[in-house]
Amino acid sequence: MMSYGYKPALSEGAIKSPIFQTSTFVFKNAEEGKAFFEMAYGLRQKEEGEVMGLIYSRINNPDLEILENRLCLWDEAEECAVFSSGMAAITTVLLEFLKPGDLVLASSPLYGGTDHFIEKILPKFGIHPVFFKVGQTTKQIMDIVEATGMADKLALVYIETPANPTNDLIDIEGSKNIARHYSTPEKEVLLAVDNTYMGPVWQHPLKHGADLVLYSATKYIGGHSDVIAGACLGSTDLIKRVKGLRTFMGNMAGPWSGWLLMRSLETLKARMDIQAFNAERVAEYLNHHPKVEKVYYLGNLTAADGEAFLIRNRQCLTNGGMISFDVIGGEREAFAFLNALKLIKLAVSLGSTESLAEHPCTMTHADVEPAHKEALSITGKMIRLSIGVENYHDIVNDLDQAFNKIPLSVGRSTTALHVH
Ligand SMILES: *Cc1c(COP(=O)(O)O)cnc(C)c1O
Repeated sequence: MMSYGYKPALSEGAIKSPIFQTSTFVFKNAEEGKAFFEMAYGLRQKEEGEVMGLIYSRINNPDLEILENRLCLWDEAEECAVFSSGMAAITTVLLEFLKPGDLVLASSPLYGGTDHFIEKILPKFGIHPVFFKVGQTTKQIMDIVEATGMADKLALVYIETPANPTNDLIDIEGSKNIARHYSTPEKEVLLAVDNTYMGPVWQHPLKHGADLVLYSATKYIGGHSDVIAGACLGSTDLIKRVKGLRTFMGNMAGPWSGWLLMRSLETLKARMDIQAFNAERVAEYLNHHPKVEKVYYLGNLTAADGEAFLIRNRQCLTNGGMISFDVIGGEREAFAFLNALKLIKLAVSLGSTESLAEHPCTMTHADVEPAHKEALSITGKMIRLSIGVENYHDIVNDLDQAFNKIPLSVGRSTTALHVH
């Protein structure tokens, strides 16, 4: 993966791909320009052995193409399209595969931006959204689809698993079965999965039946809190359509972002291994802390959790690097804790080298209806952690000193629980 798709000899022997900071590319002759455009716009089929050349950086650029080839390796996908943000990737997929009159079935909770787009923007184009919740059975979900009276209009199933911020799991295979159930010879219902929380190392949705896998590459893939980008992967046929709309929306990533992400991919596995290792130790600490009421972490699932435990075992290669927990008390106690953190930064986003903490109820999920938030357990006492690559003793010690700053009126008094 580290050297895949790049030939140093084509770039003065540079060991790393240069940043191709150029808007346009010179054709050898007019015939070549004509041929590239015919291929780019699908005006004719490629001839045997013919390769598409570089035209213009809204259509293609070496930093994007090499990055796309490398991302394909992680998900064993045929094709990849990189975008200027995760939201650009998600919205382009929704607009390409849905049309007025269609029904889209989505899991909930979803990332706030995705939820807003599906619930508030798509209806402006005559696209009807319907939602199902974590823990509902295939039968219950199909009943929701039938109740709309437009089951025959279902065109896309869109899910996010694990869900943010509760780490609730959605069954990818089960969702594909629903998509299959409503597919006809004329119309295949597709399944798209936002894999930002676990991918591309810890979960591979395409292997469980997904047609499209989506990423905010801003998170684990970028991993250094210094770039906004997104990606979509799938079959050659589907990604051709996604790239077609990308060309006209103009929301591809630029060469700089492509280059930064290639730099990031080289340490992706190493970073994510450390993050999963650290998260396990932090969860262990939180599970035993007297000021913690509940910990939302995949590693805490047991056979007693039934379906969720089975889905975890089937879909997830590790327990991930994201942990949420409820402090005993409410917003006051959660804020006292957050304000006392020293090493862990108080910021939204996730998947980066540095550990981050945030308050979903008033920050990332501020826009969610209060009743809906309550139903999803996103309340004032919840804190979400994205575990970084620091020495885990430092993370635990920072959490420990912050717990000690929570006003004493609530909870039992803590005896410092140092993990050494
Ligand atoms: C951050 C995020 C997005 C949006 O990605 P951007 O790069 O911020 O546009 C989508 N889905 C999930 C799960 C995310 O965490």
